[in-house]
Amino acid sequence: MHGAALQALGLADSWTYQLLPIPPEAFKQTVKALPEQGFRGINVTIPHKHAALELADTATEPAEAIGAANTLTFLDDGRIEADNTDAPGLLAAIDREVAGASALVLGAGGSARAVVWALLNAGAASVAVWNRTPERAIAVASDLGAEQVELPVAADLLINCTSVGLRGEPLTELPVSDEQIAGFAAVVDLVYTPSGTALVKAANAAGVPTVVGLEVLVCQGALSLQRWTGAEPPLDVMRAAARAFGSG
Ligand code: NAP
Repeated sequence: MHGAALQALGLADSWTYQLLPIPPEAFKQTVKALPEQGFRGINVTIPHKHAALELADTATEPAEAIGAANTLTFLDDGRIEADNTDAPGLLAAIDREVAGASALVLGAGGSARAVVWALLNAGAASVAVWNRTPERAIAVASDLGAEQVELPVAADLLINCTSVGLRGEPLTELPVSDEQIAGFAAVVDLVYTPSGTALVKAANAAGVPTVVGLEVLVCQGALSLQRWTGAEPPLDVMRAAARAFGSG
């Protein structure tokens, strides 16, 4: 999707976006060497998101508060800036008023931290966090000012930040029934599968608006690309490329 965006922006002659697998033990040393190789920035994913924040010279408010970075930018003055576009990416993908809304977040991993922070920072009235392993939900809730729940509660938004659905798992892996799903105003599933997760299918069947993981992926990626190039990302081009890749 980045390649397609660079092409559409007329930047493909001078910019490329490439996969760079790095083992954790070589992460810091490799990243520090990238600016002199011509890199402008990198997206970072599991398991490097915490290490990325640690090695940065400066961090944006979301990265600092969430405790993880998914975007590093190599600044002109030689410093490395850590950012977290997962949080604003989620809000852009939701595309509805979050201020004053209530939310139930499923999961307590890295993405849940970003989502809980994004919702509270956008003025959500309440955010409840459920997780299979309750201790992790307690930690996320207390770190970020949300509420840990042992059982799902009614809310305006339901956001799945577990990995359930990635391998076609049934809805029964999650603590919400079809009946409960019908009670939410919108359902967001961070998991991206071309055919749609069981949660998204259940929400669609109940007539509840959904936001699929691919849209969140596109929005966070677009914000990173904008940070590095300064250009307005062509969302439709990125969306189409991501969909084509996912279904191919
Ligand atoms: P993570 O840090 O590994 O956390 C995984 C979460 O899933 C934990 O809360 C874990 O619960 C829960 N979980 C795993 N298997 C489960 C099961 N069978 N039943 C109930 N809960 C289960 O992962 P992450 O980075 O937060 O990512 C979570 C998902 O979101 C992944 O599928 C990832 O691909 C997706 N994601 C999408 C985007 C996007 O842009 N669309 C961005 C980030 C992540 P325990 O604590 O009990 O193990």
